[in-house]
Amino acid sequence: MFIALGLMSGGLDSILAVRLLQEQQQLRVEAVTFVTPFFGPERARAAAAQLSIPLHELDITDIHFAMLQNPPHGYGKNMNPCIDCHAMMFREAAKLLAGLGPGFLFSGEVLGERPMSQNRQSLVTVAKASGCPDMILRPLSAKLLEPTKPELEGMVDREQLLDIQGRSRKPQLALAKQWGITQFPNPGGGCLLTDPPFSRRLRDLLDHQKDITRTDLELLNIGRHLRVRPDLKIIAGRDAKDNQQLMARVRDTDALLSLVDFPGPTVLMPGNASDEDLLLGARACVSFSSARDRGEIAVFLHRTGISSTLKASALPREQINAWLL
Ligand code: SF4
Repeated sequence: MFIALGLMSGGLDSILAVRLLQEQQQLRVEAVTFVTPFFGPERARAAAAQLSIPLHELDITDIHFAMLQNPPHGYGKNMNPCIDCHAMMFREAAKLLAGLGPGFLFSGEVLGERPMSQNRQSLVTVAKASGCPDMILRPLSAKLLEPTKPELEGMVDREQLLDIQGRSRKPQLALAKQWGITQFPNPGGGCLLTDPPFSRRLRDLLDHQKDITRTDLELLNIGRHLRVRPDLKIIAGRDAKDNQQLMARVRDTDALLSLVDFPGPTVLMPGNASDEDLLLGARACVSFSSARDRGEIAVFLHRTGISSTLKASALPREQINAWLL
């Protein structure tokens, strides 16, 4: 019995790759998914449950973020360093596999499905950069690729693998139908690094802050972000959920602002904001509320150990727009 350990995003391709290998009786199919502030395990959990396979979850935030700041193979359209990210995932999966038993790694990558990251050259580059190119099988396109070690050594039967290629998803949808797989997410949407607005905020953070923490990264996906100055950022919740998420992430040096007498956003100001900057934060808080036309109103300020009230009026709309990321 060999272990076939698959990279599981939870998308249809990764589901089909698992399902295809489950046809081969000599294999025990397991999956691994990766967690960072940019992508989580939820889709993979749903897929693994549907396929009845064990799922390993690895948090790679630290090494992934270190790579993300200067990816050797560069970024895709946005801040997605797909080649180096995939290579890292295979590398970490190989370490996991070493503790599970003899076997190989696989993924649901399809030749030519994504012009930049899944062309023939990219698949080879990813495999090489992973440090374990011999161990990697792409079952959905295997018949179009050079035979790999798992095939040559008889761990897996190449004849039962597939020759899918290109951007059309018809073959995948037909297979899903044949195997009765009805639950799978729409393509895309699983990784914030491919999202243009999120990528803008991340680029801004990298350009303006040296010591970036996990909380800084998590905050990028919450509320509206205003870059006021190179050393000053204001984050304003858009709804009750954002406000709660901001409150849950406030650190000792951060300040929180909210309106005293009206509903409105919670505003988080990271770092040790000066009194003058806190007033700007209070004005941003008023600007995003329904009380923006009421002139000066009371804004509650909270920072570790200190609570007080400021009076602030809305900022001009053009000013807010100029700062919005
Ligand atoms: S889309 Fe995101 S998770 Fe997937 S390889 Fe690219 S950077 Fe990594």
